[in-house]
Amino acid sequence: MQAEIITIGDELLIGQVVDTNSAFIAKQLNKIGVSVYQITSIQDDKKHILQALADAENRVDILICTGGLGPTKDDITKKTLAEYFNDTLVKNESVLQNIESIWKQHVRTELLQVNRDQALIPSKSKPLMNKLGTAPGMWIEKEDKVFISLPGVPYEMKALIEHQVIPQLKDKYNCPFILHKTMLVYGLGESALAARIEDWEDALPRHIKLAYLPNLGKMRLRLSTKGFDEAQLKKDVQDQIDKVIPLIQEEYAGLEDEDGSVEIIIAKQLTKLGNTLAIAESCTGGAVAERFTAHSGASAFFKGGLVTYSTQSKINVLKVSKADIDTYSVVSSQVAEAMARNVQQLFQSDYAIATTGNAGPTKGDSDAEVGTVFIAIATKSGVYSQEFNFGNSRLKVINKAVNKALEMLLKEIFKN
Ligand code: ATP
Ligand code: MG
Repeated sequence: MQAEIITIGDELLIGQVVDTNSAFIAKQLNKIGVSVYQITSIQDDKKHILQALADAENRVDILICTGGLGPTKDDITKKTLAEYFNDTLVKNESVLQNIESIWKQHVRTELLQVNRDQALIPSKSKPLMNKLGTAPGMWIEKEDKVFISLPGVPYEMKALIEHQVIPQLKDKYNCPFILHKTMLVYGLGESALAARIEDWEDALPRHIKLAYLPNLGKMRLRLSTKGFDEAQLKKDVQDQIDKVIPLIQEEYAGLEDEDGSVEIIIAKQLTKLGNTLAIAESCTGGAVAERFTAHSGASAFFKGGLVTYSTQSKINVLKVSKADIDTYSVVSSQVAEAMARNVQQLFQSDYAIATTGNAGPTKGDSDAEVGTVFIAIATKSGVYSQEFNFGNSRLKVINKAVNKALEMLLKEIFKN
């Protein structure tokens, strides 16, 4: 079964909004065995929408559009859909009730006619009730094809996909099972990794596809397969993972969670062990902490963090010794380790991470080369640090430092 996603909105074409809707929808479709054949972004323009629908209809069975369902004049998706299906817009009573109830709960002003008009949908469509907004989703069937139109607002779209679109697609089609397993590998470049696992890769069963996904110092190795025998597919993929791990023993960090990442693996492990974490950051400016707090449940293990950006705040708040800073410089293993030890003590945590470095492009409070970063990890049994040079692009330095800090902590917590 194949699908296409069409995201509609002028804002996407001028680069003002990044199309994250497609990535989310593609992931959810993949999970139920629907492959996405093409993703297209187009303007809020009638001719353009009609053309995109016609093109996609020729290629696939399932079309999902997002955007352009709002009450304003620039939102023309609904009218255009009606035209595409030679249909008219009719008032849908249950959609109107939904709009009125949302209005009563969340809006103080009077319900306007433009909002009432959001209850108009093509007569051939079935509404997908949007509990989070006034624009309904729509489901239209034409022969054995399905056209689905959803609002562009990401959280409204997500709720409709999860609660309505996916269950209804599963009911309608007999979808194969798609399996992706992603292995996290650190400290090996793409070509070095490929050389190391070449024989294993060449001997992979034909139904298992391999993809290398490098990203700032970490590598994701994805094994994918699809078919109807779920248990067999799971076994086949697991067998291959078991075979490749011994080849990358030192560099292999674990399996990426279905929807997650290294910080989720850390979070689960710390929570399971009942251990806690504190973070002291300089050059990463809070980005390490943010990776943890972006996920719910962080309070189970994350005690807190400090962004001690200036040298003086490292001395005043974190009690790093001024003499050490004068002797070794603020970007040094001594300072990184002191930051980790002291934040661990301050927050009474089991583990601590500290970063200090020079993200550039100009030198700051230290003579360290641009790109130099020291990362320290404090554990119950001691503290250690490593020096890195992450190049001269500020955001890259910060992101690489964050990835490296997570990798170092991950390795530490899986030691026991
Ligand atoms: P509503 O009636 O709820 O406003 P809508 O269908 O009119 O829904 P749009 O006006 O197209 O939605 O988009 C609303 C907002 O949703 C945009 O400002 C944008 O921030 C976000 N958005 C739209 N399309 C996408 C997309 N493909 N990816 C990420 N965000 C998007
Ligand atoms: Mg729009």
